[in-house]
Amino acid sequence: VGFGGDNQAFSSVWHPFTQHKIFPKAMDIERTQGVYLYPKGRDKPLIDGISSWWINIHGHCHPKIVEAVKEQAGRLDQVIFAGFTHAPAEELAERLVAETGAPLTKVFFSDSGSTAVEVALKMAVGAWHNNGQKRTKIITLEHGYHGDTFGTMAAGARSVYSAAYDPFLFDVVHLPFPEAGQEQASIEAFKAVLDQNGSDIAAFICEPMVLGAGGMLMYSAETLKAYYDLCKKHGIYFIADEVMTGWGRTGPKWAHESAGCVPDILCSSKGLTAGYLPLAVTLCSDEIFNAFYSDDRAKTFFHSSSFTGNPLACAAANASLQIWKDEPVAQRIKDVGEHHQEFALRLHERACQEGDIENIRQAGTILAFDIKTDGGGYLANIGPKLYNYYLDQGVLLRPLGNTVYILPPYVITKSELEQIYDTIIRSLDYIRNDRAQCTA
Ligand code: PMP
Repeated sequence: VGFGGDNQAFSSVWHPFTQHKIFPKAMDIERTQGVYLYPKGRDKPLIDGISSWWINIHGHCHPKIVEAVKEQAGRLDQVIFAGFTHAPAEELAERLVAETGAPLTKVFFSDSGSTAVEVALKMAVGAWHNNGQKRTKIITLEHGYHGDTFGTMAAGARSVYSAAYDPFLFDVVHLPFPEAGQEQASIEAFKAVLDQNGSDIAAFICEPMVLGAGGMLMYSAETLKAYYDLCKKHGIYFIADEVMTGWGRTGPKWAHESAGCVPDILCSSKGLTAGYLPLAVTLCSDEIFNAFYSDDRAKTFFHSSSFTGNPLACAAANASLQIWKDEPVAQRIKDVGEHHQEFALRLHERACQEGDIENIRQAGTILAFDIKTDGGGYLANIGPKLYNYYLDQGVLLRPLGNTVYILPPYVITKSELEQIYDTIIRSLDYIRNDRAQCTA
């Protein structure tokens, strides 16, 4: 099992989300270019069908970002960000405020999606605290995922990811996931919580439109709008975790735009630097900033990390934002979405003929479907089996349990997408034949 480079078997590296006993070898990547990863000792590259964990939007090693980072590296490296500032961060904050529009006026920097969400939760609860109200309850969605730190695990679903740590996680209210036909039940559950515990609630946090790690679960803009309206009506903060959905992933630049809502707090990372360097931002409204703005030093927002506002990462993000201006990024997103739609038709035909897949769904550049299995969730054996099959075929796809999804860099061409689509169809035949052999 496992498809590996030559010298990885006894590596000292402990990889993320990796059961090293079962998957001992990591593939050694020597270089990247566009949508391709070039593994050591392999004559053919891999197509990056998941944007290297949902981060790379303009393709790997885009020359404009490479240049911007090089230039920045020779001029100004990390400087302490408390009491000091620099042009790359100022420029980026200004651009982001312009991008997201009122009421998001302040930008707090951190380093990853998880820290962006930690900051958001601390801002929301801290703002209530500074305003003299003890509101600590967080409302969130069933199957949600917001990161792997303790606070973000608490806000996320309780699952195999968090099982060992559950006793340490603060209580949140998980609303039922609003799957098609069940939306009203979720909205009613929200209303009931607001009626019972309204004065305890600090914020509602969700991944707008698509729950990523929960299995690329999609829900309607109307439902998102209903959650948003409830937040506004009851005066609780609406936090949009756009770590995965931001930067055009679901079509519009921000997924919350689909529902016409403007969050009080917005978390972004991954595509922010187009996947070049670790950087995250948490944007917030004046109202939240003002809750910390005081003559009283005890009301300071006490959060930082050593690399806050890293100039190289900010330079990469500024270069990425310039690419949005200079290149037809929105058109690329539209094209990928249209190609996905055509493939979805092919998958629907397959579902009718073979009956082996279901829940074919698409939002912008994300296409997902489920392979029918006898269960197993995230740990379903079919996931690793398919993952290895795809790598063998020259495609990087990383199924979430029995959910297969494509989430490519926007620069991917039609023929490259077709290679992925054809590989997926072949993989379904492979699974069918494999099952037939096992039952024979
Ligand atoms: N929020 C969402 C919606 C995510 O998808 C992720 C990562 N997949 C995170 C937060 C955490 O981001 P990171 O892995 O950069 O900490």
